[in-house]
Amino acid sequence: QEKLDLIAQRVRAIPDFPKKGILFRDICPILKDPGAVAAVIDLFEEYVRQTNLDIDLIVGLDARGFLFGPLLAQRLGVGFVLVRKKGKLPGPTVSVSYCLEYGKAELEIQEDAVSAGQKVMLIDDLLATGGTLAATCDLMTQKQATVLGCLVVIELKELKGAEKLGTHRLFSLLQY
Ligand code: 5GP
Repeated sequence: QEKLDLIAQRVRAIPDFPKKGILFRDICPILKDPGAVAAVIDLFEEYVRQTNLDIDLIVGLDARGFLFGPLLAQRLGVGFVLVRKKGKLPGPTVSVSYCLEYGKAELEIQEDAVSAGQKVMLIDDLLATGGTLAATCDLMTQKQATVLGCLVVIELKELKGAEKLGTHRLFSLLQY
């Protein structure tokens, strides 16, 4: 609980970003405090170890999933893989498109990043509508990898993103 309190103290709410009416949860203050970063990784690690899941890879989402994912992967002694917005990764890629509030977006992974049968855990900073993580689950299914679950620092409960993840389990540290 002490760790959760520290993390909660380091999340800043910024009104009207990126658009009027949206309350943005800013995690930058967590990163400025090494104790808070350690608390995040400690709690993720505790969760993963206690679920006894046999993870092959941590898959991090562009861009704030990259801030926590590699640290957790290092702790667990497994590799880290990047899922990026379209056009950022070199070499052959596999992609998935998904719907945003206005229009569409595409996520990509390098073709050889994940192989069939591998068990992966997805990580991002925040779950809102769940569109980004759900699309990444689809991408993993395309690659015939098994999604063991999704980890986020913050879950915005009202937007019901967890429902969009279907049967994939979600672990969030803070809920708003
Ligand atoms: P979703 O696809 O679940 O609607 O949106 C989640 C994605 O948008 C995540 O990659 C997350 O980084 C970003 N995002 C949306 N809203 C916020 C917010 O309030 N704070 C932060 N830090 N990220 C957000």
